Amino acid sequence: MLSADFGNLAAAVAEVAPAADWLHVDVMDAHFVPNLTIGPPVVASLRRHSSMYFDCHLMMTDPGSFLEAFAAAGAGGCTVHVEVGRTDELLEEMRALGLRVGLAANPDTPFEALEPHLHQVDLVLCMTVFPGFGGQRFMEDVMEKVTRVRRALVSRGRSDEVDLEVDGGIDEGTGVTAVVAGANVLVAGSAIFGHERPREAAESIGAAARRALEPVAADGA
Ligand code: ZN
Repeated sequence: MLSADFGNLAAAVAEVAPAADWLHVDVMDAHFVPNLTIGPPVVASLRRHSSMYFDCHLMMTDPGSFLEAFAAAGAGGCTVHVEVGRTDELLEEMRALGLRVGLAANPDTPFEALEPHLHQVDLVLCMTVFPGFGGQRFMEDVMEKVTRVRRALVSRGRSDEVDLEVDGGIDEGTGVTAVVAGANVLVAGSAIFGHERPREAAESIGAAARRALEPVAADGA
């Protein structure tokens, strides 16, 4: 929802809700990233208008100080960045608060940084742009990491229970690229809220991704 009308947020969310499974909330602290967005009070306020699952992406240097507030505000899950450190502690704290546990990596953070935590998480988020602003171009070279994460989840027997999310520059075309690489959750901002008909845009992105994953019927079958 980074690209939604922040002055009319509840209506913007309600418009798209029927075509989306989750609401992805980009929280920026003006420190981990050079931008400032929203915090727990806005999440709590949206909670009163929506029954959607709130997937809160905490682009914050110190997410630990806010996890309790996000849980109380109605977040379904929180995702912290592996780059901020204290990862074990943060993941355990999220678990204790009853949140779904997510771990994110920036485009230039290697697979090896995520690998030691794959047994602890419910969601892995691979950023496909450098976080901070909406409307950036999808970085296709991150797909190699997405595929490595998917393979590692499969080899650990966790592929069905852990979501693999991509965030940044997702539209119909790049969404297909991402699901083919192994992602199963697509975050789209500008492609939805920058569209004249946001709900239709969200439907198209989802439909294209589902089509790309359909098994191809064998000849003569
Ligand atoms: Zn995000």
